[in-house]
Amino acid sequence: MSTELVKRLLFVPFDQLSRQRGILQSAEPATDRIVFIQNDVFIRSRKWHRQRLFFLLSSARHFAEELRAQGFTVDWIRAETIGDTLRRHAQDCGNLEIWATHPSSFAMLEALESCGAQLVENDFFLTARAQFDEWASSQKTFTMENFYRRQRTRLNLLMEGEKPVGGAWNFDADNRLPPPKNHHYEAPLHFISDDIDADVRREIDEMGDALWGTISDGAWATTRVDALKQLNFFVDTHLAEFGPYEDAMPAESWAVHHSLLSPYLNNGLLLASEVIAAVIARFEKGDIPLSSCEGFVRQVIGWREYINGMYWFLGRDYSAHNSLNATTNLLPVLHNPASTQMNCVRSIVTDLQERAWVHHIPRLMVLSNLALLTGVNPREFLDWMRESFIDAADWVMVPNVVGMGLHADGGRLMTKPYAAGGAYISRMSNYCKSCAYNPKIRTGDDACPFTTLYWDFLDRHRDEFSKNHRMAQQVRGIDRLSDLEEVRIRARTVIAGLSAGEI
Ligand code: SF4
Repeated sequence: MSTELVKRLLFVPFDQLSRQRGILQSAEPATDRIVFIQNDVFIRSRKWHRQRLFFLLSSARHFAEELRAQGFTVDWIRAETIGDTLRRHAQDCGNLEIWATHPSSFAMLEALESCGAQLVENDFFLTARAQFDEWASSQKTFTMENFYRRQRTRLNLLMEGEKPVGGAWNFDADNRLPPPKNHHYEAPLHFISDDIDADVRREIDEMGDALWGTISDGAWATTRVDALKQLNFFVDTHLAEFGPYEDAMPAESWAVHHSLLSPYLNNGLLLASEVIAAVIARFEKGDIPLSSCEGFVRQVIGWREYINGMYWFLGRDYSAHNSLNATTNLLPVLHNPASTQMNCVRSIVTDLQERAWVHHIPRLMVLSNLALLTGVNPREFLDWMRESFIDAADWVMVPNVVGMGLHADGGRLMTKPYAAGGAYISRMSNYCKSCAYNPKIRTGDDACPFTTLYWDFLDRHRDEFSKNHRMAQQVRGIDRLSDLEEVRIRARTVIAGLSAGEI
């Protein structure tokens, strides 16, 4: 290949691994050179989960090899900055123009703007940013359900003319079942590791104790071919029962009937459009309940698009909110599950430690709920979430943690906090049966920490929440407690114990 013909340097971040989207759609081996940058300072600056780091690096290295096999010149640079490195590399390669896809975080946008990169629209989502902004700007409250109905109509999915298939927009009432008894869960797929996986694994092993968590061999795909196998496995094996049990937390199954597709959707190995097409095609065969199909479609065209849209709409400063003045340091149990007797927390953090993934209800109603009720500082919890989950990204975690999980934005995104005592966890899981604590008790040594902390949380924030019509009834419940002073004392003991890694 003549180097004089090469005009563009195309930058590919680790979460845009697709030839069918963004800048790579127009890439040609004769005119474009491709660069990946492994930012070692960023990697060394945080306590990453080993599985998360492994997945990010190995998927990107496999994709770089695929591009080389297609005839591209691909550079893999280990550097300490993105912007300066791109500028220098573009000069060294013959003053190439730097091009990229509009990135998925404010920090990456700043880096790309600093080196004068030309950006094409980010079409890894189904909703253009301008399209979302137009919707959000017209709303008084950012109700996801309203956005979702508009998406269904706009994308013409599960519609009969202007009406939703089945006569209802959602079937949540059918989809909130507790864990079933004596239920069979098909074992998750196991993927075969290759030489690239082995190299990345060695590199991560050399980082030693700066990281946490373990790498579970073959638990996650690192190529598009294997990610597509997971998509097919989900639609054939789990889709039918996804809906009814999507909120259930059975101790005997970490995956339940979830798709396990979010890591691939979020790093570009799979596209939202093809995932939705596969699910709807399977539903149209006739043996998948509408409640399961609709529940899944809502997650992808509703929640996922809504969260990404809100990340950009709410702006860069949104992540710094701390409206409940939460100042507790990150709880040690979030890196060390063996330190607690709380069976739900110990089991869920152990699952996370093993695979860097638990589904949305353990994330929201156990881990975030624990951080909310104990007043963990949102910045510290946000960092932990970003470091620990295999599918984490800034656009996912900032609205989910600051707005939804920790209610740190004063109710801008969600009108009420997702706070719950042990009763919710007891209903939606089977953890409580083998726990040292009792979910029905709020005071005394046997009291479930969630139950104690729930009442204490409402009490501490009584002034803020009594003005919120969706919270007023719960807040009035505090006045009916005859043992409120004991609850307050027990809550101080629980928070001190959790902070010391002893509850
Ligand atoms: Fe979790 Fe409380 Fe149930 Fe124990 S009793 S498993 S701490 S909710």
